[in-house]
Amino acid sequence: QKVDLQELLLDLINRMKAKAERFDVEIVPQLTEASIWADRESLVHIFVNLLDNGIKYNVKGGQVIVSDSVESHQAVVTIADTGIGIPRESRNKIFEPFYTVNKDRSRQSGGTGLGLALVKQLAEKQGGTVELIDSPQGAAFRLTFPLFRVFPDKEESE
Ligand code: ATP
Ligand code: MG
Repeated sequence: QKVDLQELLLDLINRMKAKAERFDVEIVPQLTEASIWADRESLVHIFVNLLDNGIKYNVKGGQVIVSDSVESHQAVVTIADTGIGIPRESRNKIFEPFYTVNKDRSRQSGGTGLGLALVKQLAEKQGGTVELIDSPQGAAFRLTFPLFRVFPDKEESE
């Protein structure tokens, strides 16, 4: 269905606010007015998992920046944090089920290592992609989704 990214993301950021405050992390939205073609519930799982990681693997007083843009027929959403980051040797494993970077971290945060595996599966099911991108600080994830478009010869349908 058609999903207004800004509306959905602001709603989810709001729902994560209490957790962000507990971790002393600020979520900063930088959103445009793009709409995408995707399953709303899947998007909820995708974004909540990434926001949750951005909060719990952050530092006190840190930020999670949620931004979007439109690039060649795709919507791009970037979720970047100022946290502890992901070591080079773990970069190609983090989307594997049950992978956690180290035992100390997951004990502390209680993670199972399923979050990013689900994010990847759901993003690809939407015809999208997710990747870890280089970031000067912390971790940054870049997602793409098919843009919602009304075809000129068809009526808009849900
Ligand atoms: P779950 O999401 O199942 O509760 P989890 O957060 O440990 O558990 P994933 O979300 O799959 O699992 O993440 C896998 C691992 O990648 C994490 O254990 C963590 O070490 C690392 N990681 C994920 N996101 C970040 C991030 N934003 N910053 C730093 N490390 C991260
Ligand atoms: Mg997680």
